[in-house]
Amino acid sequence: MKLYSTNNHQNIVDFQQAVFQSLPEDNGLYMPLSVEKLNQDWIKSIQNYSFQEIAKKISYELLKAEFSEKEINDLIDEVINFPAPLVFLEEDLAVLELFHGPSFAFKDFGARFMSRVMAHFSRKEDQLLDVLVATSGDTGGAVALGFLGVEGTRVTILYPKGKVSPIQELQLTANGNNIRAIEIEGTFDDCQALVKQAFLDKDLIGRLNLTSANSINIARLIPQSFYYFEAFAEAKRKGFEKISFVVPSGNFGNITAGILASILGLEVKQFVAATNANDTVPHFLETNTYSPKSSVQTLSNAMDVGSPSNWVRVMEFFEHDLHVLKKKLLSKSYSDDETLKAINEIHEKYNYIACPHTAIAWLAAKEYQATKKDKSEVTVFLSTAHPCKFPDVFPVHLRDKIIDPKEVKELKLKKSLKVEMKNNFSELKEWLIRNN
Ligand SMILES: *Cc1c(COP(=O)(O)O)cnc(C)c1O
Repeated sequence: MKLYSTNNHQNIVDFQQAVFQSLPEDNGLYMPLSVEKLNQDWIKSIQNYSFQEIAKKISYELLKAEFSEKEINDLIDEVINFPAPLVFLEEDLAVLELFHGPSFAFKDFGARFMSRVMAHFSRKEDQLLDVLVATSGDTGGAVALGFLGVEGTRVTILYPKGKVSPIQELQLTANGNNIRAIEIEGTFDDCQALVKQAFLDKDLIGRLNLTSANSINIARLIPQSFYYFEAFAEAKRKGFEKISFVVPSGNFGNITAGILASILGLEVKQFVAATNANDTVPHFLETNTYSPKSSVQTLSNAMDVGSPSNWVRVMEFFEHDLHVLKKKLLSKSYSDDETLKAINEIHEKYNYIACPHTAIAWLAAKEYQATKKDKSEVTVFLSTAHPCKFPDVFPVHLRDKIIDPKEVKELKLKKSLKVEMKNNFSELKEWLIRNN
């Protein structure tokens, strides 16, 4: 798979370079140079394939230049070892649960796949790979658990003190093994600045084989396309031939993967990107003016992004044709008040507890369904995290009803192994060298 940079279409690299570099030097994003459609007969009979078989097929078609069929099969068997169930709440409305992985958020798909891809390439180079990453919560947990025990890799996570939930903190800090967590006295932006500085430090990059596990890494996008096909397979088994997807969106990586799925040949009637008060994209689709802003804090904090990095990828996939894009993709923004009301309503209506991000997707799904008449079309909204990750959002009577997965119960018994540190680059650098 060859990739180009959105800022310079002549800047073409191979998959391995795009994975280790994450970001091109020209500050664009890497995009696949060409995507061939999957065989239409295969898609028509997709209901006959398992989730893993679907993942293998897509990976092989995209990465056959880099991986043998056996390598792909082994990789997917390790990565896709949990389901993505489609749960019907109404006759033609279903929620796609993407939170059955180790960190209970959909980011597990991207992080697990990326960890194995990186390990595959660095095994060939025979050098320990040092992943340095800053997190505000969900990404770090997925990266930590994605790389946990992966041979030839070591992960160092920086996170802001007091800014992550107790479960998120344990997911970062209780692992040991090849995962190290540093609590920084500072904000998420401070953590990110420290990581950036590390990558600019010639001395440090001479000593360590550093890479970032940046959320815009192309290796995280590919595996997120798998579950759109899986949802369609399940919908077909239920008798549906048409499908629409509603995606709770922040950095717009998840919906970009959905659009990649459609470019691979999955027929999607409608995409809806649901956002919280960070409404840069809905505002753009309404006014044709793209004005990114600073993020505002909301209850659905994993979507608090004012300048969504992946939006440029969406535009590229649509070849910057706004007319076509607006037909395929709707976008709506919802307030915290609406989110809380939705959480309650979802519980009352279906006896189902949705995390705040998922509740926003449900709102957009209901609004979309009110405009469509076709009963042969199923509307699928994506559930991006388990509600137990955000206990403070829920009113007490609902919080008590959230059933922790057994892994969370085990996690709560574990000890944090964090290293505490000031917001100071020399201290970080010295620690990284001393603990090499
Ligand atoms: C990251 C995240 C999102 C937003 O996904 P994007 O790919 O950034 O649009 C939504 N919900 C949860 C729970 C997340 O962790």
